[in-house]
Amino acid sequence: MSQRRPLIAGNWKMNLNAAQARALVGEIGAASSVHCDVLVCPSYTLIGSVVGQGVAVGAQDIFWMPSGAFTSRVSASMLVDAGCEYVIIGHSETRGRFGKLEVASRTVGYFAETDETCNLKMRAAIAAGIKPILCVGETLEEREQGRTDAVIAEQLRVGLDGVDMATVIIAYEPVWAIGTGQTCDTPEAERVCAMVRAELGSAGEHVRVLYGGSMKASNAPELLCQPNIDGGLVGGASLVADEFLAIVAAAV
Ligand code: PEP
Repeated sequence: MSQRRPLIAGNWKMNLNAAQARALVGEIGAASSVHCDVLVCPSYTLIGSVVGQGVAVGAQDIFWMPSGAFTSRVSASMLVDAGCEYVIIGHSETRGRFGKLEVASRTVGYFAETDETCNLKMRAAIAAGIKPILCVGETLEEREQGRTDAVIAEQLRVGLDGVDMATVIIAYEPVWAIGTGQTCDTPEAERVCAMVRAELGSAGEHVRVLYGGSMKASNAPELLCQPNIDGGLVGGASLVADEFLAIVAAAV
């Protein structure tokens, strides 16, 4: 029997102002859960508005250098200083692997990160005592080519190279299911999460593997009762308190 505690993480992306963020975290915190960990990941500018309100806080990205001439970047120690306990690393949007591309293709490089930069970020987060959530997942094209498992195995191999696994969390996020309303069907989500766990070897039994991709109140109960799905990384539905809390309630 696994001792893995479920985690429901909200990725607020580039949404909300300070007043809206405080109101939302207040509603979430008031209903805070004893049966699972609950996390919100706001924009950097909103972190100070939501810390200390009964809900764990994470950042949506990190830079691996400790300090210096890195205009626009935020270091691990800065995140700790701001009150962050978690950080999302390698989200498909920062990897520049969009499920639905709404920006000109020539601009994707501005976001692009690689498995190697994910690895540097994982190491920096762990060294600072921040729990990293490494996102992995295939594009629709990769799925249609039958490369889903190979793509994910490679993301894990490079992203986790030399990493202490004690606090690592993995989120399986099929790129084609993010923000599209198209959820991966439950047996397939469970199969890939089990595959991820198997790739982690002996560490796999203890690592939390989340599913992310159009998770909402209506599909969460089925997804979250799967043996290898230990929680959710939730985008759109995390911006609506009732939806997010229903997902939290469904975590088992
Ligand atoms: C995400 O951004 O990680 C995500 C899963 O988004 P959504 O729930 O909106 O698909």
